[in-house]
Amino acid sequence: MAEHCPGCGLEFEREPGYWVGAIIINTTVTFATFIGMFLLLIGVTWPDVPWGIVMGVTVAANGIIPVVFYPLSKTVWMALELSWHPLETEEITAASQRATLAEYQAG
Ligand SMILES: [Zn+2]
Repeated sequence: MAEHCPGCGLEFEREPGYWVGAIIINTTVTFATFIGMFLLLIGVTWPDVPWGIVMGVTVAANGIIPVVFYPLSKTVWMALELSWHPLETEEITAASQRATLAEYQAG
């Protein structure tokens, strides 16, 4: 992943441990999807629930969803975090300098 936005120069990781929020979002989405799929599969097939299939589908989903959703969880986390912790003056200045430098180097 790039350290800075190629357009505006914003540094993505604003502080050490910044992506813990994205991991929490990713875990929450994965768990909510697991519960939803689990209850849906049971509800649709009740009373003859194919437990092997339910287990196979939910285990596969628990392996696939966190990997596929991880980049989007970072985007969601940044949007949420920026909404309650707007950029500070130093961050805007640094981003602006990076963007200007990138424009200069591009010609
Ligand atoms: Zn940007």
